[in-house]
Amino acid sequence: MPDVHPADPDTFAERVADNLQQVRTRIADAAARAGRRAEDVTLVAVSKTHPSTAVQAALAAGQLHFGENRIQEASAKFAALRAAHPALRLHIIGGLQTNKARDAVRIADVIESLDRLRLADAIAEATRLEGRTPQLLVQVNTGDEAQKYGVPRASADGFIEACHARFGSALTGLMCIPPADQDPAPHFAWLAGRAARHGLAVLSMGMSSDFETAIACGATIVRVGTMIFGERDKPPQAT
Ligand SMILES: *Cc1c(COP(=O)(O)O)cnc(C)c1O
Repeated sequence: MPDVHPADPDTFAERVADNLQQVRTRIADAAARAGRRAEDVTLVAVSKTHPSTAVQAALAAGQLHFGENRIQEASAKFAALRAAHPALRLHIIGGLQTNKARDAVRIADVIESLDRLRLADAIAEATRLEGRTPQLLVQVNTGDEAQKYGVPRASADGFIEACHARFGSALTGLMCIPPADQDPAPHFAWLAGRAARHGLAVLSMGMSSDFETAIACGATIVRVGTMIFGERDKPPQAT
C-alpha cells in the first residue's frame, strides 16, 4: 500500500506522481490484457478528505480528472484550482442529497450518483437555474445492500429510461460500488450488460482494490483514491 504524508511537500508531491505513474501503468496493462486501449479508460483520482496540496501534486503530474463525495469539501477545494486549470474535470461520486443538487450542478463536470427520481427532479431544476448540465451517471446498487446508495437492481431499467427521457444525451452511463465482501466481477459484468442494453457508453466501476478487474469487465472510468494519495484519515462520508 503506498504511504504518503503531506508533512514534507516535495516528497509528498513526488510520491503522488510516482503512485499515479504506477496506477497508469497498471491501467494500461489491464487494458492490454483485455484487448482494449488504455485511452478508453479514464482515471479519476479520488481526492476526498485529502488537502488541495494533494490535488495540486496530482495536477502537476498531469492528472486532470478528480473525484469528491462531499459537495462543500469539493467546492472549497476546487474553486481556485478550476480557475487555474481549465482542463480540470470534477466528478461527484458520493450519495447526493437533493438540497445539494444545485451546488453539485454548479461545480461538477460529471455527477456519478443519480439514483432516485426526487434527485433527478432536483438536478433537472438545477440545470435550468444554472444554465449548465453536467454529464450524468445512474448509480446502481448492484448488491441490493440496505442503506447503500444506488437504485436497486429491480428498478434500474425503469429508472434509466426515466432519466434518459428527462436528460437525453447528458445521461451517459452507469456507476456501481460492489459489496466489499464479494467478488466484484459479477457486479461489474451485470452493470456492463445493463449499459449495453440501454446504449450507454460510460461505465464507472473499479476502485483501488479492484480496478483491473473492472477494466477486464469494460470499465471506461476507474475511481482510485488510496493507491494515489494514501490512506484516508476519516472514513468516506455521505454528503
Ligand atoms: C472513496 C471512493 C473511491 C476510492 O476508493 P479507494 O479504495 O480509496 O480507491 C471510489 N469510489 C467511490 C464512490 C468512493 O467513495
